Amino acid sequence: MTELLCQTDSYLKEFDAKIVSVDAESRAVVLDRTAFFPGGGGQPCYFGLLTVNGTEYVVTKVKKKGADAFHYLGEDIDLPEIGATVRGMIDWDRRYQLMRTHTGMHILCGVVFRDYGALVTGGNMDVLKGRMDFEFETMRGELVREIEEAINIEAKKGYDVKVAVLPREEAFKIPDLIRTKINLLPEGITEIRTIEIVGLDLQADGGTHVQNTSEVGKLRVADYKSKGKINKRIYIEVE
Ligand SMILES: [Zn+2]
Repeated sequence: MTELLCQTDSYLKEFDAKIVSVDAESRAVVLDRTAFFPGGGGQPCYFGLLTVNGTEYVVTKVKKKGADAFHYLGEDIDLPEIGATVRGMIDWDRRYQLMRTHTGMHILCGVVFRDYGALVTGGNMDVLKGRMDFEFETMRGELVREIEEAINIEAKKGYDVKVAVLPREEAFKIPDLIRTKINLLPEGITEIRTIEIVGLDLQADGGTHVQNTSEVGKLRVADYKSKGKINKRIYIEVE
């Protein structure tokens, strides 16, 4: 099992860990703890470096399998051994851009629910761009600029972004969480991590975020698409 350090400290750039298993075929190592986000919930994984006894390995992908985070190593050099101590370093630029993008997407969710009552049904993102799907029957072209203006006003207000981990029962009592469909979470999950943009949005979420919405920067509604009578997709970009 890999402890995900990025879930409680998304600003952690470097960390020490131990290799608990090695998969030679896929050139992957599992660590006991990591600051690499393994991807999930629409957010891509982090990249970076692992240093083991002076040898540097480029981390080309990180993926969670069960409770383990697999770190895929790029170079065609001998793999490190089980039990070895590693120093991990995250590619800060990519990571910070993903954090800003992810928080920007939650600002969009919060605004679209507050102003139009539309629920989010899904989303996906990459560095400095993302898309969100809403049950948003009244979405039309004229709203694009209105939404863009509103999300930039909210970003600039500088709301704190808070992370919490709640027992499942407690989380299910929060009406704002229910609207983001936590009831779809698998039965076995006993704790639910939440991301709150205090005063704007609250969601069950496993991803990484900035601490304050003022860090997000300028947001642009790049496009929108009708995916049927009710379902609408909104694309955003972060400058
Ligand atoms: Zn999210």
